[in-house]
Amino acid sequence: MHLLVPKVGKMYLSSLFYCLNRKTSLVSNNQQGDPLPQGGRRDDHSLWPVAILILPIPSPWWSGPTDLSKIHTLVVGQLQTNCYVVESNSHALIVDPGDEPERILRFVKDLNVTITCIVATHTHFDHVLGVDGVRIVTKTPFLIHRDDLSMLESMQSRVRQFMGFEVPPPPKVDGYLKDGELLKLGDKTIRVLHTPGHSPGSISLSGEGYVLTGDALFNQSIGRTDLPGGDLQTLVQSIKERLFKLGDETIVYPGHGPETTIGDEKLANPFVGKAGRLQIG
Ligand SMILES: [Zn+2]
Ligand SMILES: [Zn+2]
Repeated sequence: MHLLVPKVGKMYLSSLFYCLNRKTSLVSNNQQGDPLPQGGRRDDHSLWPVAILILPIPSPWWSGPTDLSKIHTLVVGQLQTNCYVVESNSHALIVDPGDEPERILRFVKDLNVTITCIVATHTHFDHVLGVDGVRIVTKTPFLIHRDDLSMLESMQSRVRQFMGFEVPPPPKVDGYLKDGELLKLGDKTIRVLHTPGHSPGSISLSGEGYVLTGDALFNQSIGRTDLPGGDLQTLVQSIKERLFKLGDETIVYPGHGPETTIGDEKLANPFVGKAGRLQIG
């Protein structure tokens, strides 16, 4: 569709996509009564005039908001993990249900969508504690990258050792995702990118105009690599050779904190940006 759009129209269209995507996140959080994550979302209103200006313009290339994947954010658990519900054409994927499964279930029920699967970007406890609660009701498979299986299996002892508290047994895995694999969601596809470094089996999920990066890349930061299975050089390579190859306008939805874009992080990320302190690889 974009190929048919004149240059100016294309620019305006992507602005509108940006508005709708961001607004969706804002609405989702407010519906759940969450505090907004620090910084980053309240200024979204500034783009609404652009959307209002272009909405009434009749155009042969306008195909409406059903063409979008919507990214809903629910901040869950004690480490304030971003659980994402990616929605497209009445289907949805639940990514990183890190806690509060009842709240996630209430949210997807209100969306009135068919859940296709549950995916963890990696298997640290703060991304998987809600999996069983969500799976038992949605009856959908739980998928991870195989390289994170051993970390999942030892979740209880690791949390006891590093965090000092008890967690329930880890969820069972129903299937494994490979680098390059395509997940179908309605009429959209989401590509699995293996982005290890924060953990061996960390993955990112790349869709049209967005990428979910788990704990690999954050707004102005990168994932920690001091936990077992972490490796700094591998993480920097994952970010620079995989994530930074995506378009600059790509919206980054990280595992914690506010969204950003690939372009902003390439420029200003203090670790892996243009003048960042880590220039490995
Ligand atoms: Zn993590
Ligand atoms: Zn995390």
